[in-house]
Amino acid sequence: MAPSTISDLPIGPAPVSVKYTKLFIDGQFVDAVSGRTFETLDPRNGEVISKVAEADKQDVDVAVKAARKAFDHGPWPRLSGYARGRILLKFADLLEHHFDELAALETLDNGKPLDLVKYVDLPMALRLLRSFAGFADKICGKTVKIDGPYHAYTLLEPIGVVGQIIPWNFPLIMFFLKISPALAAGNTIVLKTAEQTPLSALFCASLLKEAGLPPGVLNILSGFGPTAGAAISSHNDVDKIAFTGSTDVGKLVMEAAAKSNLKAVSLELGGKSPMIVLDDADVDVAVELAHLALFFNVGQCCVAGSRVFVQEGIYDEFLRKVVDRAKRRVTGDSFQSGVDHGPVVDKQQFDRVLGYVEIGKREGARLVTGGCRIGSRGFYIEPTIFADVEDYMRIAREEIFGPVMSVLKFRTIDEVIQRANDTAYGLAAGIVTKDLNSANRLTRSLRAGTVWINCYHVFDPALPFGGYKMSGIGRENGKQVLYQYSQVKSVVTPVESPWL
Ligand code: NAD
Repeated sequence: MAPSTISDLPIGPAPVSVKYTKLFIDGQFVDAVSGRTFETLDPRNGEVISKVAEADKQDVDVAVKAARKAFDHGPWPRLSGYARGRILLKFADLLEHHFDELAALETLDNGKPLDLVKYVDLPMALRLLRSFAGFADKICGKTVKIDGPYHAYTLLEPIGVVGQIIPWNFPLIMFFLKISPALAAGNTIVLKTAEQTPLSALFCASLLKEAGLPPGVLNILSGFGPTAGAAISSHNDVDKIAFTGSTDVGKLVMEAAAKSNLKAVSLELGGKSPMIVLDDADVDVAVELAHLALFFNVGQCCVAGSRVFVQEGIYDEFLRKVVDRAKRRVTGDSFQSGVDHGPVVDKQQFDRVLGYVEIGKREGARLVTGGCRIGSRGFYIEPTIFADVEDYMRIAREEIFGPVMSVLKFRTIDEVIQRANDTAYGLAAGIVTKDLNSANRLTRSLRAGTVWINCYHVFDPALPFGGYKMSGIGRENGKQVLYQYSQVKSVVTPVESPWL
C-alpha cells in the first residue's frame, strides 16, 4: 500500500442514526428469508455503521411476486397519470421534509461531503422525482393515418415488472433516476441497491406508504451482485431490466436477460471521457473545468473527464496550474462544511485506485502530484495527476473511477479527434475553447452521448443521458426514457364496420 504523506484527519461522530436496515417488500420491512445480514461501513474511518438484511435469490422471488401482483391486480398501472403524479409529488414533499436526515445518511454510507449531498445530490434527486411526476399525465400514444378505411392509434402501456440495479457512486440520484420514470409510466419495480450504499434508499422506502404508493409497487433489496443482482436479471417474471454499473457486469446482465425470458434491457455503463483543451482557451478557466470534470465526487463519476488532452501551446502552463489547483482541494471529515474531497467508497475501490497509481508509474507516466493515501484510517486518497501520459498506457485506457487525472499532449484537432475516439467507451466529452468552429467540428466528430462545451457535469431530467459504444444501451432522462419503460400497442378498427 502507498505510504501516507499526511497525518490522520480528525473524524467526528456521525450526526445521524440508522433506522431502516431490512428489505422492503410488498410495503413492509422484512428480514431476508435466509436471515443473513451484511455490514455497511463508514468510508471516513472504515468502521461498521450497521448490519443490513442480505437479499438473495429467494428474496428476489418474493419481491418479484409482490411486484407482479401489484402490476396484474393492483391499482398502480390503472390509475390516471395525474393520480400517479400526485403520489410521486407527495413523496417528494415528504423527502424534502426529511432533507437533513436523508442527506446525512447519504454522507455516512457513501462518504461524500455533506455539502455536496445538500447542494447537488439530494436537490437533483428531488428534481428527478418531481420532473417525472409531471410527465406522468403526458404519456400518450398517437393516432396514425394508415391506408384504408381504418382508425389506427397507438397505446403506450407500462411494461410490467421492472428490475433495476444501481451502483454506489450517487446512491440517491441513481435511485431516483431509475424509479421516477418507471413509476410515472405505471410499472412496478424490484430494485437492488449497491452493497456499499444500501441505507438512503431504505430511508426513502419508509415514506412510501405515507405518500400513498400501494404495496408491492416499489420493492427495495439490499444485497450483492452475483446473488441478488443475478437473480433479478435472470428472473423469468421480470419484464425489463435497467442496469447502471460497470461494462463487464452490464454484459453479464444482458447475457442473463437473453438466456432467461429475453426481457428488455437498458444499460448505463462505464466511461473514459476525454476533456479537450484547445490552445485558444483561457487557461485558468480550462484548469477549473478540467479539475471539476475529474475530481468531482473524488473521481467516482461515470462521466469523469479522466483523459485531459491539452494542446501543445498551453500544455506547460496548464499543467502547472492544474497541479496547483489540485493541491488546493479541501480534504477532511465529510460532515464538515467546506470539505470538497472525501474518501472513496470502500477498501476495494481504495486498493483499485492506488493500484492504478502504481501501474501509471510503472508505465512511465510522470506523477506530478498526489499518489498516496491520506492518513491511516478510512479510504482517503490524495488528488493525483499524471502528466505526459501516452494513449497506450492502461491509465489512459481503463476506467479508474477515482481521483487520478491523466494529462496528454496533442498538436492538431484532427489528431485529437482520432485519439479521443480511440476507446471502447463513449459516454461523455468536454471541450474548452473560444473558437466556435473548432467546438462545432469536435462536437460532431466525438462519439459520445453528451458533449459539454466550456462546462462539465451539467445534467437535467429533461436532457437525455447515455452512452455510445460500450458505455451503454438506451437513454435516461428526457421524454425518451419513458419509451424505455413503456410498451407500444398498435390498435386498428374499421371506421365503419360492415359486419356490425
Ligand atoms: P458494478 O458493475 O460492480 O456494480 C453495479 C451494480 O451491479 C451493483 O449493485 C452490484 O451489486 C451489481 N452487480 C454486480 N455483479 C452483478 C451481476 N453478476 N449481476 C447483476 N448485478 C450485479 O459497478 P460499481 O463498481 O458499483 O460502479 C461503478 C461502475 O458503474 C463504473 O464502471 C461506472 O462508470 C458505472 N456507472 C455508470 C453510470 C452511467 O450512467 N453510465 C453511472 C454511474 C456509474
